[in-house]
Amino acid sequence: MSENAEKRKTFCTHCQKEVDVVLRPPAPRSGHASLPDNEEVVCLDFGGECEGEVCPISQLRPVVMGVRLARSGLRHSWKTVRGQCEGCGQVAALALIDLDHAYCNLCGTTNTWMLLELDQDGQVIITGRKESGGS
Ligand SMILES: [Zn+2]
Repeated sequence: MSENAEKRKTFCTHCQKEVDVVLRPPAPRSGHASLPDNEEVVCLDFGGECEGEVCPISQLRPVVMGVRLARSGLRHSWKTVRGQCEGCGQVAALALIDLDHAYCNLCGTTNTWMLLELDQDGQVIITGRKESGGS
């Protein structure tokens, strides 16, 4: 874990349990150094129960939290699928954020994905670009 990450416990009203969160400094953005320093909250307990409209910790859609967690590198146990990333075009292991979103570690693109069942060839992963919005 990086030194400037601060781990805390907080109660998640959606999951009805205490969860571990990490406060991280905002990602540096070139050319916008004057932006206020909003710390980014990353929930380490993000998971399959994090459905619903809004994550109570981030006040954002749960998938946004999942992407933050994937981007943070704080979790290494993602389920992954091999698919072609729409961002970089590489066939890569995409971390499954939820049933619709998969995160490419190579370029940081959030893809939408779906599993297509083929009659003879098994399964294939279809990826697409993330819809607009999010963080
Ligand atoms: Zn990519």
